Amino acid sequence: MRRISVFGSTGSIGVNTLDLIARRPGEFQVVALSGGRNVDLLASQARALRAEVAVTAHEECLPALRAALHGSEIEAAAGKAALIEAAGRPADWIMSAIVGVAGLAPGFAALKQGTTLALANKESLVAAGPLLLAEAARHGARILPVDSEHSAVFQALTGERMEEVERVIITASGGAFRDWPYERLKGATVAEASCHPNWAMGQRITIDSASMFNKALELIETKEFFGFAPEQIEVLVHPESLVHALVGFRDGALMAHLGAPDMRHAIGYALNWPARRDLPVERLDLAKIGQLSFRAPDETRFPALRLAREVMATGGTAGAAFNAAKEIALDGFIGGQIGFLAMAELVEAVLAQMSARQGLGNDARSLDNVMGTDAEARALAREMIATGRI
Ligand code: NDP
Repeated sequence: MRRISVFGSTGSIGVNTLDLIARRPGEFQVVALSGGRNVDLLASQARALRAEVAVTAHEECLPALRAALHGSEIEAAAGKAALIEAAGRPADWIMSAIVGVAGLAPGFAALKQGTTLALANKESLVAAGPLLLAEAARHGARILPVDSEHSAVFQALTGERMEEVERVIITASGGAFRDWPYERLKGATVAEASCHPNWAMGQRITIDSASMFNKALELIETKEFFGFAPEQIEVLVHPESLVHALVGFRDGALMAHLGAPDMRHAIGYALNWPARRDLPVERLDLAKIGQLSFRAPDETRFPALRLAREVMATGGTAGAAFNAAKEIALDGFIGGQIGFLAMAELVEAVLAQMSARQGLGNDARSLDNVMGTDAEARALAREMIATGRI
């Protein structure tokens, strides 16, 4: 039996991953599941799949988790150290689907055992891409992309030569505010930003889609994961969300990857790789769909993409600062402290101040180094919100 663990099992990616696993009884032995505050769901997942250990990220949630697992033989644990310990338990396949930079340390711990890491947690690559890839190489581990665009690029590259790739295009649905004029964006609410036109995802990534910060993270993720030069990577708005990415080769050929907007495609690909197995996803009827449309992104209404290009040009710890400032900006928007457009203003201001202070292009030499930049960017972003500078 394949031993597997799912970090972030109570989230959107986690639930979809467990859905695929539950459909194949007898094939998998579940080692660890992890969640945050949703301990009831975590406990019921652990019971249903007979996990060895269930971990909540929050110490204060441990009594509730213990109570929910009472009478079972499943271990309950809590906190960052417990997550890292669980990620180090031998497993053949580990899903990294915690949201935010909180997923970085468990991902590192998983790589140390030389396993296959299915990486949905794009923030890890944005904050510490080179470190993560080096850690995988050091331990003979493999990272498989789970973001739909990156899974699509990965699939389009199969059997191809990297040196023959001219460009890569990742698509964006455009999110909830694709067609909103700039003036209207000023008053956009959390509820409006939380409604994605095509994908059912967690709230944070859904709002990041509306602000295009999600695509900004993905631009950086593409550079880090595949090693393309920033100028080779393009973003195209594609409202139907059926073409996930395209890879262009030196002979002008463009290989597109299409599929229904269902994350079980990319999760299932990573789960079954290098094989392909049946997946419970809709088959596209292109005659019925009729048309696919594409347009260039608007970087005036959505400055996140421009900021991502600046981050890629700077390198070093700029990705860690960008991601951290973005996470605080998102907290500020969800908490009603700042408006929708102020999120990009805040991220830009944090990057500007940090690069004036110490320069962000320095090598991100260690995880401590990256997390130090992360903490500094968070503190600065919080201070800017608290003092009304944004
Ligand atoms: P969700 O918000 O739905 O779930 C996040 C998961 O992380 C939950 O299990 C949550 O626990 C847990 N979590 C939250 N905060 C912490 C923390 N501080 N420490 C440890 N665990 C925590 O997110 P998604 O499933 O949407 O996204 C997960 C990751 O996958 C993100 O990096 C996202 O960018 C990426 N991704 C998501 C896609 C999607 O379709 N959803 C598509 C592509 C990438 P709890 O809910 O119990 O509090």
